[in-house]
Amino acid sequence: MPLSSVLIVGAGPAGLSLAQYLKTHGIPYRIVEKSNGDRLQGYSVSLHFAFEHLTKAMGEEKMKSIVEKTSVNYRDETAFATVDHLGNPVMKSNGSPTLIGYGIRANRSRLRKFLLDGIDVEMDVDATGVVFTDDGPVLKTNKGDMLADVIVGADGLHSAVRTSVIGDKVEETNIVNLSTSRNISAEEHAEFIKYSPTHAMMYGEKKDGQEGVVNLFYGVNDISPDKKTVNVRWVLSWDKTAIYKDIPDTQDGLRKLANEMTEEFADPFKSLVQDTDPSEKYWVGMISQYMPDPSWNGEGQITLVGDAMHAMTPYRGEGLNHAILDVTRLGEQLVKAHQGEQTTAEAIAIYEEEAIVRGRKAVQASLDMATSVHRGFTWPFVILARSISFMLNFTQNIPFLEFFFPKTH
Ligand SMILES: Cc1cc2nc3c(=O)[nH]c(=O)nc-3n(C[C@H](O)[C@H](O)[C@H](O)COP(=O)(O)OP(=O)(O)OC[C@H]3O[C@@H](n4cnc5c(N)ncnc54)[C@H](O)[C@@H]3O)c2cc1C
Repeated sequence: MPLSSVLIVGAGPAGLSLAQYLKTHGIPYRIVEKSNGDRLQGYSVSLHFAFEHLTKAMGEEKMKSIVEKTSVNYRDETAFATVDHLGNPVMKSNGSPTLIGYGIRANRSRLRKFLLDGIDVEMDVDATGVVFTDDGPVLKTNKGDMLADVIVGADGLHSAVRTSVIGDKVEETNIVNLSTSRNISAEEHAEFIKYSPTHAMMYGEKKDGQEGVVNLFYGVNDISPDKKTVNVRWVLSWDKTAIYKDIPDTQDGLRKLANEMTEEFADPFKSLVQDTDPSEKYWVGMISQYMPDPSWNGEGQITLVGDAMHAMTPYRGEGLNHAILDVTRLGEQLVKAHQGEQTTAEAIAIYEEEAIVRGRKAVQASLDMATSVHRGFTWPFVILARSISFMLNFTQNIPFLEFFFPKTH
């Protein structure tokens, strides 16, 4: 029997891409979102291995404008550089990200707008959980009960859909993020472009007797239409079991800590932090993750995509990419169910079998990366990284890189 309603919970990148996929393939859907539309989305993300999958969801025509509509610098010119605390590049890729293939650095708000094209989202619908009934799965919300053939939880890290079925299994890692966004001038940005036009990471110095380092991430969020102002986010991060175990609980305390941490960092990174206007709010929090649970059982009626399925630390820049990969993998199976080639329960089982294994691998790899980059690099690693960086000047495709940066998809 054709599907008459797929109910998507959450209009983040995963939920919206799924809505696009279902729309493109003629499957009736409904999408609900708890926020009222003006949720702050203050950072940018790298879209790389999911590019081809997003094309399957959006269609080739819409994808023609993705760069100009979503890229932080309105171009597909991006790169990622790692830099030591003295400002010497350790590894630098030129052009599109070379470790994982072609990609763009997208502004999250504009990406959301792009994914919203042609999709009607029911806003202000706060889902509290799901129940299984004889008529099918029901979503409980502040606006009443919603019955569907299939419910897809795309409601992020703290998914209410997931939690109501298997409980809250979100884990806090040991990594702390201290961050804010601020404007810099085009001249100041030019100093960062020497490293990367879009985003870079400065690794702190490992001091004698210390087991960890502080890292500083810089990422462009957006560039003003007159190109004179660049909105940038910086993030200081560290492993609180190794260093800086006490975290201040006042804005003044956080500002002093940020300045202390960057005291020995080279410019322009040091000034990026230390010249932040005191009126900017500093955010501090622990990075959390959700490791997919193989005992998950949505009874062939309820499933999960994106961070609801597998939330990972951002240190490999892959969470969003896996979310979009989930969408096409689930979408392909639902299309077969819709066409009568298999049951909905079979479709969901096939999708989950792959997504749970892949998600576990990706969550673990991101945690390993988060842990290792906050432990500091050994000198053999730095030499190796510089050699790879040198080779990246001549080729965008080094097959053996996978040995150091294994694929998770
Ligand atoms: C600092 C940072 C940098 C990152 N960088 C990258 C990167 O470079 N590359 C990359 O691939 N990934 C990156 N990620 C990860 C990426 O942002 C996430 O994997 C991605 O946003 C997941 O999308 P999602 O739609 O599953 O979840 P979300 O983006 O969390 O969206 C969930 C949606 O569900 C809604 N919702 C929540 N609860 C309910 C409810 N009860 N009822 C109804 N609606 C609900 C929310 O309001 C939201 O709109 C980064 C993450 C962070 C934090």
